[in-house]
Amino acid sequence: MGRVLMIGAGGVATVAAFKIVQNTDVFTEFMIASHHVEKCDRLVKSIHDKGYNVDIKTAEVDADDVEQLKALFSSYQPDLVINLALPYQDLTIMDACLACGCNYLDTANYEPKDEAHFEYSWQWAYKDKFEKAGLTAILGCGFDPGVSQAYTAYAAKHHFDEIQYLDIVDCNAGNHHKAFATNFNPEINIREITQKGLYYKDGKWIETEPLEIHKDLTYPNIGARDSYLMHHEELESLVKNYPTIKQARFWMTFGKQYLTYLDCIQNLGMSRIDEVTYEAPLADDPTKTVKVNIVPLQFLKAVLPNPQDLGENYDGETSIGCRIRGIKDGKEHTYYIYNNCKHQDAFAETGMQGVSYTTGVPAMAGAMMFLKGIWKKPGVWNVEDFDPDPFLQVLNEQGLPWHEVFDGDLEL
Ligand code: NDP
Repeated sequence: MGRVLMIGAGGVATVAAFKIVQNTDVFTEFMIASHHVEKCDRLVKSIHDKGYNVDIKTAEVDADDVEQLKALFSSYQPDLVINLALPYQDLTIMDACLACGCNYLDTANYEPKDEAHFEYSWQWAYKDKFEKAGLTAILGCGFDPGVSQAYTAYAAKHHFDEIQYLDIVDCNAGNHHKAFATNFNPEINIREITQKGLYYKDGKWIETEPLEIHKDLTYPNIGARDSYLMHHEELESLVKNYPTIKQARFWMTFGKQYLTYLDCIQNLGMSRIDEVTYEAPLADDPTKTVKVNIVPLQFLKAVLPNPQDLGENYDGETSIGCRIRGIKDGKEHTYYIYNNCKHQDAFAETGMQGVSYTTGVPAMAGAMMFLKGIWKKPGVWNVEDFDPDPFLQVLNEQGLPWHEVFDGDLEL
């Protein structure tokens, strides 16, 4: 049905690749390209070792370089490019897609390297160009962003005339048995968590200090967990697409130990994203030194556990969902839609932990929606711009079943 090129060979890409080879009726040709081709080849080997006898091409590309991307896209000619590299590469990949007539999907919105700041404006600015080229770009098709928007769209379509209060709640109650580790790319993760909080209330955005507001929320099959209000990108598109929303917030759980380490990292200056000069020994003559500029957070990433290696000893589960209050047929209702995902189930299937799994499966499902022609319309779109029903059905069948609670106590 379609030829896809996936960029990236990290945790999320590994899960997406496993899911793509489980659906070869839709994904008929598949290439994985990343910074280091050895990593792509290792991923292909792990897929073959699990018994999937599928032909997968690999290639090396620096996705910061539009010319390299264009050369690759022109030679492989994919119908769809799935961007599972880092948010820094979103715009270069979108530029190359436009130049080569390829459609586009990603899981995280663009972030400049030198500014820990994320918003959709940079990518929404491509809307006209994609529309004129007759190409589809699907933004933020992981879990959150991604499934969180499909859940909201599903609630709006089936259960509410007006959504008024929306809380996206993201709990990871797993334990990887490391003193400190992040569940996805450490650089991106720490940049996100150390930012100021932001939520929407009565037509205004309200800023908070980082992790200033928190409270216990109870998650299904898990219990109460301290949950912190954070800024999250999908709130920006959801309040725009559902103007009846009076309040929209995003909550994520963190354990005490994680926060203590994070505090130390910040106090030591290791979360800095500006360059510092370091006098390093020369590789071929360690008695001599050379001045190099390093970004402390990038250095920290090099010494922290790789999120891809956490799966084996990870127990417990994640629980992510949307808690919604609004009006249906003149009456107030509440609605909670969520998925729980066990880290060990994700590991058994793909060798990755649950956070990579809950992101990689929706990326494959969104790509499937595009290739089947269900989510295909020229322009740049967020997940809630499309019909949620077929997407949620695929999630049910592909390892992320969802559950609903009607008129329960939302605790919010
Ligand atoms: P990883 O760091 O594990 O993987 C990133 C991959 O991109 C690596 O293979 C890396 O290659 C490759 N890469 C990095 N820079 C370049 C470049 N310039 N050119 C080519 N390839 C490059 O990250 P994750 O898998 O944890 O995360 C992937 C994406 O998913 C991120 O954008 C993250 O923000 C997003 N995400 C979204 C979530 C959601 O729910 N929506 C949740 C979690 C993550 P190498 O290692 O060889 O440098």
